[in-house]
Amino acid sequence: MRFGVTSPTETRIVFDSNGLLEYDLDAETTGNGRIVVSLTNVRFARNFAQAGQGAGHVAGYGAAVTGANAAVITIDLKKGAKVAQILPLPPSAANKNNRLVIDLVSAPLSELTASLPQKKFNTITEVIAAVTPPAETMLSPAVMTPPSPKPSADSAAAAVLRKPVIVVDAGHGGSDPGAAGPNGSAESKVTLAAALALAEELRNLGRYEVVLTRSTDTRLAHEERSRIARDAKAELFISLHADAIADPKVRGGSVYTLSDEGTERSAREAREKGDYLVFDLDIGGADPQVGGILYNLAQRETGNESDKFAEILIGKLAGVTPLLNNTHRRGNFKVLLAPDVPAVLLELAFISSPRDEANLNSPAWRKKSMAATAHAIDAYFQQKGAVRHASNSVGGTPR
Ligand SMILES: [Zn+2]
Repeated sequence: MRFGVTSPTETRIVFDSNGLLEYDLDAETTGNGRIVVSLTNVRFARNFAQAGQGAGHVAGYGAAVTGANAAVITIDLKKGAKVAQILPLPPSAANKNNRLVIDLVSAPLSELTASLPQKKFNTITEVIAAVTPPAETMLSPAVMTPPSPKPSADSAAAAVLRKPVIVVDAGHGGSDPGAAGPNGSAESKVTLAAALALAEELRNLGRYEVVLTRSTDTRLAHEERSRIARDAKAELFISLHADAIADPKVRGGSVYTLSDEGTERSAREAREKGDYLVFDLDIGGADPQVGGILYNLAQRETGNESDKFAEILIGKLAGVTPLLNNTHRRGNFKVLLAPDVPAVLLELAFISSPRDEANLNSPAWRKKSMAATAHAIDAYFQQKGAVRHASNSVGGTPR
């Protein structure tokens, strides 16, 4: 169990486990307040500390075994908070544990109970559905679809069958060739070839609309690339690049999501321009404070989605192509700055390594690594429940 202070008003609680946690949350609002996490089918690891200090909103916690494979963890608060979101994260190449993330945000203690999920969940998909209000319903009444009286499983599936739009961005292009390989390859050429291959893999799956920011050797500004993603109402933006470094022995791919610094820059630029264009709804006309709050909420949700996809992508690429240690990195990349589109930047390989350069030019390597990337995209959307899964076991973990 870990605590992190993500901002003066936000505290993150993380449970690491070697399987999907079955949990139930309760609250006590006497004193400074307390969150009670009841766990079933669980045993504490030998080195798990059964009491400890907290951080941020949390004073500390205590854990107790309450029956055969049952336990309760009480989390004592030291200032008013409510649950902002709960995120169950599956294991990944970078982290072998399942994680259950509970984000607390400053709020009057009276709001704590209402912020808890209403019932016990069986699958990750159910939890995500319960804690993630659909953005359109919340912010843009114009696109709300009238609720059907008693949706059957089929009509519920049909309702989400709009194909997710994936924007594939080939880095550099035209008068900006990017990095050059020792044998003369240009980054802009290999990223375009990879983007075209990824688009083909995705179109073959039949479940996605694919938009390329460029399909020829042309130059595009970063802002243009994220504008294309926004205009296309992208649900995922993936930018393809190739790394370069002086040491020709360094090789391997890596995945970047936006750093906190980049997140702040995006918010600052939006604030300065009064440009709170989130979820396609111009909220700049609203109270600037409200605009800022909505903007930050969109960013936080987007950042978590980007991280989730990054972890899945690394898992699928592992074993298919060499990866750097510490594969999931955070960067301050302009191309990742659209606040409302989950975005990752995939450094395919090191063009400065002769072996990686050969891979980047190999149609066979391109096919297998882009097929793996397409499978990662598919796994991400199936986990979200946004596309129909052949076996109907969306996101669930068999027990
Ligand atoms: Zn690049």
